[in-house]
Amino acid sequence: MNICPHCHIGRIQRQEVNYVCWLDGHMMLVPRTPAYVCDVCDNLEYDPDFMLGVRYLIHQHEATQKQTTRARPKKAAGKPAKSSDLAPL
Ligand SMILES: [Zn+2]
Repeated sequence: MNICPHCHIGRIQRQEVNYVCWLDGHMMLVPRTPAYVCDVCDNLEYDPDFMLGVRYLIHQHEATQKQTTRARPKKAAGKPAKSSDLAPL
């Protein structure tokens, strides 16, 4: 087992934990996320390969959201008034 890089006392153990983050104002929970946890200071580092996959999925979601936003028709903006449309005082 590896020694904890944070406290230099504990040993790192692989565990499955919940990963929680916020995405577009919604809480996202990824259960059973592989992580490395120190048995002394509880320092936690998520598995970098797994997190790469999570970030890829988030990026794909954001790209889909942007495409959906662009595809929506925009509301018609009010026609700007011309100076000739204004009534004389
Ligand atoms: Zn530690």
